[in-house]
Amino acid sequence: MSLPGATVQALPTGAVPGPVTADRAHLFTAGTVADYRRVLAEGIDRVADRVAAADRPFTGVTPQDLAPRIAGIDLDRPLGDTGAALDELQDVYLRDAVYFHHPRYLAHLNCPVVIPALLGEAVLSAVNSSLDTWDQSAGGTLIERRLIDWTVDRVGLGPAADGVFTSGGTQSNLQAMLLAREEAVGRAATSGGPRPSRPESLSRLRILTSAAGHFSVQKAAKLLGLDADAVVTVGTDAGRRMRTDELAREIDRCRREGLRVMAVVATAGTTDFGTIDPLPRIAGICAAAGVWLHVDAAYGCGLLVSPTRRHLLDGIDRADSVTVDYHKSFFQPVSSSALLVRDRRVLRHATWHADYLNPARAVEQRIPNQVDKSIQTTRRFDALKLWLTLRIMGPDAVGALFDEVIDRAAAAWHLLTEDPRFEVVTRSQLSTVVFRYLPTGPGRALVDEANLYAREALAASGAALVAGTTVDGAHHLKFTLLNPETTVADIAHVLDLIAEHAGWYVRTRTAGELSCPIR
Ligand SMILES: *Cc1c(COP(=O)(O)O)cnc(C)c1O
Repeated sequence: MSLPGATVQALPTGAVPGPVTADRAHLFTAGTVADYRRVLAEGIDRVADRVAAADRPFTGVTPQDLAPRIAGIDLDRPLGDTGAALDELQDVYLRDAVYFHHPRYLAHLNCPVVIPALLGEAVLSAVNSSLDTWDQSAGGTLIERRLIDWTVDRVGLGPAADGVFTSGGTQSNLQAMLLAREEAVGRAATSGGPRPSRPESLSRLRILTSAAGHFSVQKAAKLLGLDADAVVTVGTDAGRRMRTDELAREIDRCRREGLRVMAVVATAGTTDFGTIDPLPRIAGICAAAGVWLHVDAAYGCGLLVSPTRRHLLDGIDRADSVTVDYHKSFFQPVSSSALLVRDRRVLRHATWHADYLNPARAVEQRIPNQVDKSIQTTRRFDALKLWLTLRIMGPDAVGALFDEVIDRAAAAWHLLTEDPRFEVVTRSQLSTVVFRYLPTGPGRALVDEANLYAREALAASGAALVAGTTVDGAHHLKFTLLNPETTVADIAHVLDLIAEHAGWYVRTRTAGELSCPIR
């Protein structure tokens, strides 16, 4: 392509790049590939050494310890040297980071990552494609599209389905709610009778989700300008799954009150309990009521590749939109997520044509510009990580890893049911375990504080990390198992540590109160 008025000088083929001047020494160009190899290898060595040496998931460092070290660094005075910068990084980050690969990291939905995906990460950031337009990514666009088609196929969304990679489940849920909102407002405008104003339509919209659904649904409603009470929580059964009788009742109630249910959000893998809402029955209710069904499978999406448990997602194929977080149960590094839709036409609600980037004529010319489907513009080629994972390991191997942690969570649940020191809540269909330490005797009144204390004391020691949550107002502890290297012995050991910390707390508090009653 030539620019009008520009003098185009032919370069001899195989032109040798010019000398690398000092100010350009750090630019990744044809002249610096040797540095690229050396510097990255140095960084990889540091990370590998640290990962190999980690004897606990965390050092227990506090923000007070770390903040002065980071604040004390003069960002206007570069060290100039990779080794020195890595030494400093060791001090302010690598030494005290939280290590998800460690078998006693049992806290949040963070997975250890697979090496093919780390290779993808290195490649995608070096080439630095941007997936907004074809002319900034070429093959990257088509690879992302193939992976969306592959996922859509696994979900069973049908021939008109499509989707796009996103930064995470929160963004996927936000975009799903945006699309559902626009569809609902559009229907309100064409459903006959006096045409409501847009603010009127918006104020009548409701989203139904279970009490165990993810908070990003509430956040999406807020960001989308819906009413403060737009999200109606539907009760759950003893297994922490959405009650479908209550769902049907709420849909009826909304109708009677002149409210419009813009979406039902079912969760396939609740963050706390790892339970899956009854998708087939929910899909039936939504279909009968003409309501958009969004399935939040941020956590449960790993079942799509499970060699033994795909059936747990039965009914997901009837969704209008689906959230999948590959960075949770596909063992991918952050970020890697997607929003999928049954009918690709709904993605038009996220489309805006800019003359400089994605003019409308590009659509006629069939130029694949992913920005037309996304709420981001410049966007990472995160899909490459999943691509290399599938091409090197294959889906069954990923699913087998997820199966393994689900089995381990079941074993942990059995362990807890047989341990009189603890009370365990509901059995997860995925890989979480929610439980609490139960003090006996007069210490019983300290149950909440003892569990809170145990979690903090454990984190401060760095020996293990567990999560906390509340169940019906009472403080509980949670294991989220995503590391196949975590053994039942690791879990038993962590339970002993928790019992030690909680027991110590109860003993000192009750003893303290006996000896010092006026405190
Ligand atoms: C983690 C999670 C989300 C949010 O995903 P992010 O990738 O953290 O933004 C949404 N829904 C559920 C059920 C989740 O577990």
